[in-house]
Amino acid sequence: MSSPVKYVYAFGAALTEGEAAMKNLLGGKGANLAEMCRLGITVPPGFTISTEACTEFTDKGQAHVFELIRDEVAQGVARVEGEMGKRFGDPADPLLLSVRSGARASMPGMMDTILNLGLNDEAVVGLARKANNERFAWDSYRRFIQMYGDVVMGLKPVSKEEHDPFEVIIDMVKEKRGVKLDTDLGTDDLKELVQRFKSLIRARIGRDFPTDPWEQLWGAVFAVFESWNNDRAKVYRELNDIPQSWGTAVNVQAMVFGNLGDSSATGVAFSRDAGTGEDLFNGEFLINAQGEDVVAGVRTPQQISRLGSQRWAQLALVNEEERRSQFPSLEELMPDIYQQLLKAETLLENHFRDMQDMEFTIQEGKLWMLQTRNGKRTGAAMVRIAVEMLKQGMIDEKTALLRVAPERLNELLHPVFDTHAVKAAKVIARGLPASPGAATGQIVFFADEAEEWVKQGKVVILVRLETSPEDLRGMSVAQGILTARGGMTSHAAVVARGMGKCCISGAGAVHVDYKARTMTIGDTVYQEGDWLSLDGSTGEVFEGRIPTVEAGLSGDFGALMALTDKYKRLHVRANADTPDDAKVARNFGATGIGLCRTEHMFFAGDRILAVREMILANDEAGRRKALAKLLPMQRGDFEGMFREMNGLPVTIRLLDPPLHEFIPHDEAGQRTMANEMGVPLGKIKMRVEELHEFNPMMGHRGCRLGISYPEITEMQARAVIEAALNMKARGFEVKAEIMVPLVGTVREFDAQAKVIRQTAAAVFAERGEQLEYLLGTMIETPRAAVIADSIARQAEFFSFGTNDLTQMTLGFSRDDAGKFLPDYLRKGIYEHDPFRSIDQKGVGALVEMAVRKGQQARPGIETGVCGEHGGDPASVEFFHGAGLDYVSCSPFRVPIARLAAAQAAIRGGAPAPRAPRGGGAPTPLN
Ligand code: PEP
Ligand code: MG
Repeated sequence: MSSPVKYVYAFGAALTEGEAAMKNLLGGKGANLAEMCRLGITVPPGFTISTEACTEFTDKGQAHVFELIRDEVAQGVARVEGEMGKRFGDPADPLLLSVRSGARASMPGMMDTILNLGLNDEAVVGLARKANNERFAWDSYRRFIQMYGDVVMGLKPVSKEEHDPFEVIIDMVKEKRGVKLDTDLGTDDLKELVQRFKSLIRARIGRDFPTDPWEQLWGAVFAVFESWNNDRAKVYRELNDIPQSWGTAVNVQAMVFGNLGDSSATGVAFSRDAGTGEDLFNGEFLINAQGEDVVAGVRTPQQISRLGSQRWAQLALVNEEERRSQFPSLEELMPDIYQQLLKAETLLENHFRDMQDMEFTIQEGKLWMLQTRNGKRTGAAMVRIAVEMLKQGMIDEKTALLRVAPERLNELLHPVFDTHAVKAAKVIARGLPASPGAATGQIVFFADEAEEWVKQGKVVILVRLETSPEDLRGMSVAQGILTARGGMTSHAAVVARGMGKCCISGAGAVHVDYKARTMTIGDTVYQEGDWLSLDGSTGEVFEGRIPTVEAGLSGDFGALMALTDKYKRLHVRANADTPDDAKVARNFGATGIGLCRTEHMFFAGDRILAVREMILANDEAGRRKALAKLLPMQRGDFEGMFREMNGLPVTIRLLDPPLHEFIPHDEAGQRTMANEMGVPLGKIKMRVEELHEFNPMMGHRGCRLGISYPEITEMQARAVIEAALNMKARGFEVKAEIMVPLVGTVREFDAQAKVIRQTAAAVFAERGEQLEYLLGTMIETPRAAVIADSIARQAEFFSFGTNDLTQMTLGFSRDDAGKFLPDYLRKGIYEHDPFRSIDQKGVGALVEMAVRKGQQARPGIETGVCGEHGGDPASVEFFHGAGLDYVSCSPFRVPIARLAAAQAAIRGGAPAPRAPRGGGAPTPLN
């Protein structure tokens, strides 16, 4: 049956059917292989089976896909045979193939690869003769059986403590021969390995290793499709928001060999430093090796450039003489090839206008490029590369801003080690600075245990000989990762950089014993649970726990942030409850406080006593007495906020949570409270009983408190206005905004507004001076959103409390949703946690409607969001589209929101003119 749909696309010197723009169909690897061929770069010929074939495989099964693509694959192989001048399955001079996965988004190490496909007992003899290298042929054969046995036939370790069964056999043969390295094994040893591997497969799997090259090829193609659905690929997709439906392409390509002797090599190169972003061509290679040797991290690779090599030597404590003789760079060892590689990387970086991550093989003095892709990088590298490429004229400002994933800025805001503490700390080992950051935690040796420990509230450092894709979840929860083996491109290093996680790899002095659960350095034995600290920027491993301090905005980060202001329309404010938080927010570029939760101030110092006195009071007079004690404290807090935000708006919300939150619920706590306040325990118990609610989030809270006890609103309004006048008198520019929470009807707002306005008028009269302020409301009940036009006639601004609005619109309790939301996410009922990223169709539609209605009733009304969604990039993009004026988020998310706001404006077109602040008629001053 031949299919009308094309599933196979050729690439090579003779014919190339794909191109870079075809990533969805050909996967990243396939599309870029085609693009390299179009650029005239030397690439082994091959073909790509499209992602659509994978989707067919998942939906309709293997037999169906086989029929669909059989003829096209046969043609593809024939073309490769033509270009390479060899025949697939020819025992005298076999064409060997590699079969590799390649999805739309890169998923390093998550899916499977098979090399040297096409070998069998006859072909290996032909290969040996042709290459004039028997050892190479048998080594290729044993590698092929090993990979195919693992990936296609499923021969894997049965428990986490068991070593790879193939490696166990290799170790056994090495021991028998008395040699240490794989490279020390002779041809006869490799022949023995082949026989032993085959027997192992027969014994464990119950089938013979396939000798027919076509059977091998189809087995490998289907195994790659299958690997799209393996557990580690699923986990990776979950962590990186990659849809299940994309599928992977399969690249079948002529083999080239980096293990044909000392004029052959294989390596990985980056056009810029993936850890720091420095504009420095760098990478690693291994002489006489195949690609998986670099990634597996078993041998210590050499550096590509002389400079890189010298830097490596410094860290590895290798002197210059030893470096030059034993670990020379490619630049020194094969200067011509180095120049060709340099030319290719420059061509590719200029062509893609982004940092490239490339794989190459040198076969007997000839350079072949095997892959190029936009390199994964740390958050710091994202920023530096974007800013430097902008300065170098390679990209424009908008592209620079779009190059940085807002969430990744988190890494630049991560703490760094306290400089004094780190000076005093003891360096116990050094490794490669694989991914920057400071990490401190307890040693754990297994990824699943890392997860368990973190669930128990511990912070951990995952210590491994090397990591593998199975360790992904454990790596993602660890503070940092330390491996004894591996280079800058080992699995641990690549994955950690992708996660923005601190990582040190190849710390050779570290000896890990999984069985004993110990790590030994020199004479010192460290147990599981001992504290360890890592500096991923220097590669230093420290004993014990080192305190950390917060980072700030500077250099390239500062430059990028300044650029956001040029493009974003949304303003970014912060949710801050103390002057210290306000200061942090302002340093991060917040242009106002969008939410000051006044109740957070109620817990500080001994003011909780006055709060409790108010709650226990029997009547209004009693409450007023207690509130009078609170007044100066609140006023002082607000003065601090106005001081820090001099000239910028500060939105202060009236008391919101139910009163029982301020009283202890356990007997011991109540007893202490009774003693401190000199009241009988019984009275406290009775009040707790009275305040008990079945559903407190829908109970006596928000403006309902102010309706019942207007004197609370009065005290808070007085504190705000007095603080504002005091600061104004001291020369500060004060922009106060008073906000009423949880409004559902206009009358609620009116009642509270009346108290606030009267109080303000009273203070103005007492002081003989006045001041403008805004009086607005939160929109956080669905009813308020529906009647937003009526509310806007009274309120001067809206601030969407999307936490409560989500809770009430979805009917999901903020406090209890954690119990069932994971099921909803797993089953795809909700795609994202709606408390993290706004539910655009439901809650979002209410926001859009309320903004529209508000604008109609009061043109220019100020609107913002102060729920947690204000710091979520996808939600920020939505709020930009909804026409809000600002988002407000926690201080540490301010840079993230600024960048997300700029990106939203860039994606959504030119910045729209901003509505004037406040807009409506100013609050009457009397
Ligand atoms: C909200 O509901 O979104 C909000 C900001 O208020 P809180 O989280 O304090 O209820
Ligand atoms: Mg709320």
